[in-house]
Amino acid sequence: MAETITMEKIVSLCKRRGFIFQSSEIYGGLGSCWDYGPIGVELKRNVKNAWWKAMVEQRADVVGLDCSIMMHPDVWKASGHIESFSDPLVECKSCNQRWRADHLESDKCPACGGELGEARKFNLMFKTFMGPVEEDAAVVYLRPETAQGIFVNFENVVTTSRKRLPLGIAQIGKSFRNEITPGNFTFRTREFEQMEMEFFVKPGSDEEWYDYWSKERFNWYVGLGMNPENLRMREHEKDELAHYAKACVDVEYRFPIGWSELEGIANRADYDLQQHSKWSGKDLSYFDGQTNERFTPYVIEPSAGADRSVLAFLVDAYTEEEIEGATRVVLKFHPSLAPVKVALLPLSRNEKLTPMAREIFEKLSKSFVTDYDDTQSIGRRYRRQDEIGTPYCVTVDFDSLEDHQVTIRDRDSLAQIRLPVENLEETIKAKLAGESFGTDSLWAGARA
Ligand code: ATP
Repeated sequence: MAETITMEKIVSLCKRRGFIFQSSEIYGGLGSCWDYGPIGVELKRNVKNAWWKAMVEQRADVVGLDCSIMMHPDVWKASGHIESFSDPLVECKSCNQRWRADHLESDKCPACGGELGEARKFNLMFKTFMGPVEEDAAVVYLRPETAQGIFVNFENVVTTSRKRLPLGIAQIGKSFRNEITPGNFTFRTREFEQMEMEFFVKPGSDEEWYDYWSKERFNWYVGLGMNPENLRMREHEKDELAHYAKACVDVEYRFPIGWSELEGIANRADYDLQQHSKWSGKDLSYFDGQTNERFTPYVIEPSAGADRSVLAFLVDAYTEEEIEGATRVVLKFHPSLAPVKVALLPLSRNEKLTPMAREIFEKLSKSFVTDYDDTQSIGRRYRRQDEIGTPYCVTVDFDSLEDHQVTIRDRDSLAQIRLPVENLEETIKAKLAGESFGTDSLWAGARA
């Protein structure tokens, strides 16, 4: 990552081009809450779809699930969240600002230099009341992770899916944590989306599967175009491990704020199923019909943040290039993540060009997310498409009306070629899929 990529640049691009806006902006915003705009929502959906495809659709040993956000309060007693899902909080004696003690570099207040009080445990779960009465009996929590919904459905899923172990159950959904110090844009927020998978295995095979998933998850990011030099694996020290975890490794990304966690892969042993068996009184052990053995499965959990992944993909794609004395900002997204795949840009808004351009748009938009833009100069429109990472721009000009050919421009090489309209869709399809195509020799040397 170049030194010059700052979080400010990413935040400003996201606002300017409709990736991410501050929540409730017209009311002055709400701390650490963000909204995905028209371009951002496509990007985030592409990231989640890529995860679901790799983790569920393309595997015979993983199935999906979508659980409710509010669950029976005993779930959080069993999981240990009520007892110990907390961070150490300290308060400044001078300015009363509150900080997360384990994130501070010195023992003076970062805001005013004042003296800090004693650290106390602060539970991160959001509490609310279910139904029309606000009393202790009606307290429910917003889930701080999606994983518990998976554990409590383990038996339902095993019985109905007719699958044997090893078996994974995957879920994408919102989680909530009342973080003491959220910040760094969408890196740490109080409402966020997770992509989690619990992989249930026979005890004894857990270490092998832990290694397997650690590698798979690293490779997933690389396969979607992330520069491997900006990724690393960091194994947790014994004293960092949650009390139930046998091992944990983080996939870290080199964000502008430094190396930080993108995803954690943990060996949770049989802690969760044992706890839920104990608290619910339901036996959650598994009977292996082949070996005639009964055991409580061990769990390997790859747990990723959808918003953090989006942020990492944005940072990784961000490129500034000097071209003819001007700086071009371009997001070099992997084609499958690009929010818009093709932009249709008639040379000008002209009644002769519009029907042909519209007709091409109608056709392409059935296959790809396609943008149509006929305002402003073509230079400005290219700049916008570069900044949202659109791989291909197609221009329709007056010659097109005569020869039925259009110009297609490649985002990364800036090469432009003319080709017959009837070849357009299959050319774009092949290019997006990374396949070679009949027009390849034309692209070579066609840099604009
Ligand atoms: P951290 O140490 O950064 O607080 P964690 O180790 O508590 O994170 P996990 O409980 O392992 O995080 O959650 C799994 C993933 O969920 C994280 O790797 C991250 O991508 C995402 N995540 C967790 N907390 C947040 C948050 N407050 N905002 C955005 N994403 C988050």
